[in-house]
Amino acid sequence: PDGGRVPVLVIGTGYGGSVAALRLARAGIDVHMVEMGQDWGAAPAGPDGKIHPKVTSPDYRSFWMRTRTKAPISNFLGFPIDKDVPKFAGILDAEDFAGISVYQGRGVGGGSLVNGGMAVTPRRQHFASVLPSVNADEMYATYYPRANSGLGVGLINPDWFERTSYYQYSRVGRKHAQRSGFAWTFVPDVYDWAYMEAEDNGSVPKSALGQEILYGNNYGKRTLPKTYLAQAKATGKVTISPLHEVTSVTPATGGDYAVVIRQINTSGATVATKTVKAGKVFFAAGSVGTSKLLVKLKATGALPQLNAEVGKGWGENGNVMVGRANHLWDPTGDVQSTIPCSGIDNWDGGGAFAEVAPLPTGIETFASFYLSITKNTRRAEFTYNPATQKVDLSWQRAWKQDSINMAKTIFDKINSKEGTIYRSDLFGSNRVWGDHLTYHPLGGAVLNKATDNYGRLHGYPGLYVIDGALIPGNTAVNPFVTITALAERNIERIIATDL
Ligand code: FAD
Repeated sequence: PDGGRVPVLVIGTGYGGSVAALRLARAGIDVHMVEMGQDWGAAPAGPDGKIHPKVTSPDYRSFWMRTRTKAPISNFLGFPIDKDVPKFAGILDAEDFAGISVYQGRGVGGGSLVNGGMAVTPRRQHFASVLPSVNADEMYATYYPRANSGLGVGLINPDWFERTSYYQYSRVGRKHAQRSGFAWTFVPDVYDWAYMEAEDNGSVPKSALGQEILYGNNYGKRTLPKTYLAQAKATGKVTISPLHEVTSVTPATGGDYAVVIRQINTSGATVATKTVKAGKVFFAAGSVGTSKLLVKLKATGALPQLNAEVGKGWGENGNVMVGRANHLWDPTGDVQSTIPCSGIDNWDGGGAFAEVAPLPTGIETFASFYLSITKNTRRAEFTYNPATQKVDLSWQRAWKQDSINMAKTIFDKINSKEGTIYRSDLFGSNRVWGDHLTYHPLGGAVLNKATDNYGRLHGYPGLYVIDGALIPGNTAVNPFVTITALAERNIERIIATDL
């Protein structure tokens, strides 16, 4: 409440924030979480009788405060997919910077609400490039296993994979990868695989097999509200304020921090402004959310002693999307699971890992679709712009050419082997590469640079970063397992020494 005090305040309810809340609460500490998005578990159903709409029919529930939807794949067979919608606190934010649109989850559970649930631990030999200052032995012995278990990570049943029509697109992806000599692997996921098989049997309502992804899953996906946050709430020590956005954090008397919070309604209008005091504050607003706050607070004098590393080291995990047009003898299926379960690994050979992604349109498209993670080494910086009072990001779209070149080490070879071509109808007129976006923002408050080696912000005892902002731009695979594992490592040390 306005004017109150809490021992610990956590900004954001994604992976980093949820880990912090659970571990602090289990250590006996009262935690208050502040989340700008909605509590979707308490949201009313929409016109389709469900909380979340299908990916094929985005509506007002789909996007954060936009008046027009912005589907990542904007066109199909020449037809634009997007449409006008009323401005609403929807679940997926397509946040536009000058050179890139950064997709992020909004709501209690953060990115876990919208993502594909692909839960990948980077290969041990790549870890030194992901987090150079962290002891890899500890991560692989303790914190990655702890994160995988807390998140509920599992693998698809390989027999069902071979049988189900919903993964025909993955089997075609495997065939093409292997015929070109690439390593193809199953990818673990937090989706409840037994539930997905039951969807296939027709015994439960469909979610992954019912075209649900990006705008929320109504069933089957183990999102944070079903895992870490459920356990955190069960302690009785964690409270969450949805539709509350933190706008300022500044030192107050007695070593506390004053946190200014804007309460909004689902149309985005401010309904109240509150100030609370907190003994400790965890920034867990995601790479972009945390970086924007810190850069602004440093520049405007609220936290002037933050160091010069704040805002730096941001990367987009080398994300790039592409589609290939198959021959008529290689249909990818008119039904497709929205949850990817496999990938092509050419990281060592060409700096690219490609997930075999669905294109769940409901019709046969003869298209193979891929989201690649590449070893792009470009790094951008967040800076405060006093004229607009906003935070800019220096990423340039041309930098994605490096990612395209790496992804081509896989797909040029497959196209040449199969005698196929790229699709040019998915991202607008004659665009082959989806190089305008990322799903994987990382960095901006990098571990051991903007913070110490456990996330303590330099210059301000009691302020911590505990989310994707700590990771310097690339994880070689999908990032949330690494974000979770690093948060597990850091919070254990912080509880032992700071509380
Ligand atoms: P987030 O999960 O982004 O959580 C931050 C939270 O803070 C959000 O809920 C946000 O609303 C809130 N917030 C922000 N600013 C404020 C503020 N000022 N006040 C209050 N609250 C605030 N990763 C994978 O590993 N596998 C995948 O398959 C995968 N698929 C993806 C698909 C999509 C479409 C997207 C968008 C992402 C995907 N990701 C995937 C990425 C993954 O979801 C993110 O890396 C992860 O969610 C980041 O975790 P985080 O804790 O850093 O922050």
